[in-house]
Amino acid sequence: MNLQAAVATKPDARRIAAAQRLRLRRLLLASFGWLMYLGIAAYFRSTGALVLAPPIFVGIAFGVLAVNLGFVVWILSGLNLRLRDPSFTGIHISVAIAFLLGLLWFAQTLLSQDFFLLGLIITLLFGSLKLGLRELVPIAVLGYGGYSAAFFLHSHEVGLTVHDSVARIAMYGILVAWVTFFAAYVSSLRVRIAERNRELRETTKRLREVATHDGLTGLYNRRRMDELLYEERDRAERARSPFVVVMLDLDHFKRINDTYGHAVGDEVLQQFVCRVSAEIRCIDRLGVDSPSGDCSRWGGEEFLLLLGNTRIQGGARVAERILRAVSGSPIPTSHGPIPLAVSAGLACYRPGESVDQLLRRADAALYRAKRKGRNCYVLADDPKSVPGGGKGMENPRETGV
Ligand code: GH3
Ligand code: MG
Ligand code: MG
Repeated sequence: MNLQAAVATKPDARRIAAAQRLRLRRLLLASFGWLMYLGIAAYFRSTGALVLAPPIFVGIAFGVLAVNLGFVVWILSGLNLRLRDPSFTGIHISVAIAFLLGLLWFAQTLLSQDFFLLGLIITLLFGSLKLGLRELVPIAVLGYGGYSAAFFLHSHEVGLTVHDSVARIAMYGILVAWVTFFAAYVSSLRVRIAERNRELRETTKRLREVATHDGLTGLYNRRRMDELLYEERDRAERARSPFVVVMLDLDHFKRINDTYGHAVGDEVLQQFVCRVSAEIRCIDRLGVDSPSGDCSRWGGEEFLLLLGNTRIQGGARVAERILRAVSGSPIPTSHGPIPLAVSAGLACYRPGESVDQLLRRADAALYRAKRKGRNCYVLADDPKSVPGGGKGMENPRETGV
């Protein structure tokens, strides 16, 4: 039960942490790109292709680095998770374009203008990681518009003919448009893959649920309980801690089916599980001997309870409460209230024994409870003979409730 309830949030936290790590890596990649870009800009500046006074260049370089550092801090603080797009690619790209336009303003040679264009194309491709066509087009228009304006502003200085200037602007226009649509296409592919991955994750989750849970009651099924039993046995062997299994079987359940029909029988099974679950929760809260339990549907109207870190006395208390809760008041069904009772057989794990042997002892105890007249539990171990999980002769103690 404790396991059944607690799994929901952990995978989410893991996914968020993984996504944050990916954002950081992406940001570091972008920062590295900027470093290279600024290095080349410094080279153009030294050759005179980029006319930038040292304070302006240093200002731009530090501005770029400070902004990227700010982005890193933003992610590390987790505040970016409040955004609709926690990767803030739109903001990142807008800032990059602003810096590029700043550099373009001072680019007076063809080479340094082309260098800006290179930055614009890389930025658009970077945008394909998150942005769609609608977001990419304004960025492309702004960048390409800025490039064209700077080009015509300085065209007389570089000495190109009007014909060559128009051809050059048109050629780069086609290039930018193509890169924009390509980036948008990559982005749409990425969205589709992300959607498929999400569907796959959900399907896997559903399949895992179906493979480990019983459809009618929502409890663990026998296969999952088998795994838990083996895990618990290993733990008990390692830590020398005892555990108890409680085999529960509804009394004269066939009569209920025969009298009220199979559908009402199903309702009774579900209501029985509600009562058992409430009892286990109740015991957990009270902390009496702190037995925490995993409950499974073992067969048709048979259920198996696994009480970790519990001795037989603790198990007996749990069984007693369950029996009282089940038979204390009739089970409400669509056919009216139906009286119900359950019998139980309990066995405490003996070091060295197999899971099969343990279950056989619990089953034998349950059989004796049935023979005793039902609505009672029987212990496969004498409480006095099992302190510390010691090996005692099987000594059934029959207990009426
Ligand atoms: P006893 O006290 O000896 O355990 O008697 P019983 O009638 O409970 O035991 P028996 O093994 O004779 O009958 C069990 C019945 O449980 C028969 C089967 O039809 C019914 N059953 C098993 N699974 C389901 C189920 O999923 N839904 C319903 N409604 N009945 C089920
Ligand atoms: Mg039965
Ligand atoms: Mg049965």
